[in-house]
Amino acid sequence: MNGCLYICATPIGNLGDISERVLETLKEADLIAAEDTRHSMGLLSHFDIHKPLISYHEFNKVERARELVDRMLSGTKVALITDAGTPVISDPGEVLVKAAKEAGIPVTSLPGPCALITALTLSGLPARRFVFEGFLPMEGKDRRQVLEELKEERRTVILYEAPHRLKRTLGELADALGGGRRLCLCRELTKIHEEALDMTLEQALAAYEDTEPRGEYVLVVEGKTDEMVSQERAAKWESRTPQEHLADFMAQGLSKKEAMKAMALAFGKSKSEIYALINK
Ligand code: SAM
Repeated sequence: MNGCLYICATPIGNLGDISERVLETLKEADLIAAEDTRHSMGLLSHFDIHKPLISYHEFNKVERARELVDRMLSGTKVALITDAGTPVISDPGEVLVKAAKEAGIPVTSLPGPCALITALTLSGLPARRFVFEGFLPMEGKDRRQVLEELKEERRTVILYEAPHRLKRTLGELADALGGGRRLCLCRELTKIHEEALDMTLEQALAAYEDTEPRGEYVLVVEGKTDEMVSQERAAKWESRTPQEHLADFMAQGLSKKEAMKAMALAFGKSKSEIYALINK
């Protein structure tokens, strides 16, 4: 007989946000896998749940997933929880879900609190299309590459950040996207001191100039708008003469005709306008 894996979302601050279904599942599970068992003990005893706990975290996720799969294959019902919010989302869980599915174990997810969704819904920024980056890579090439990609990102961008790294991240985002880029700086969501401040990256940096960030943060950053794209395009167009732009395109191996067509496309102009400017 197979067991089952239940992915259980738990509160990100306000204990009232736990769902009835999660409580029932935790009470019925044979085993609860938790990121930090001591931390989760507090949550579970608050709800009078007393079940065996096993640690499942970043540093044991591969071996522990194997062990948990074996136990589920012999019928154990395992509930996976994390320190806060939805397991798997910037938290361990992915490896276990994959291993369970590969072993043919039924997996089900019980939805609930998640900081990124809570922040997005509070931000007032476009929510139809968004991209979740989680925590930016800490250092070096990977971090620079993500920041570089974000420069062109048209969708709303959601980031997690720890308080001691907030200023650095705000500074680097301002360098990459411009200090005028809007964001909703969300802090301590669902808790007493919840904030969702609409500001620019520059204003956020100024707000923390003499204050140390405290608490948990989600940054919801406006994507590059149509207006920004046209302003950049206009500035690029103005930076050189039409003949210089043509020379740039031809230097890429295009014929004069092809280069004029490419220019029209790149600068949002009609082919006849480009033709007239070049042949003036
Ligand atoms: N799995 C969690 C979820 O579903 O949102 C996220 C876990 S991740 C390790 C922790 C990060 O989530 C924090 O550093 C912070 O960026 C964000 N976070 C979690 N709880 C939060 C809260 N109450 N307010 C703001 N951000 C929060």
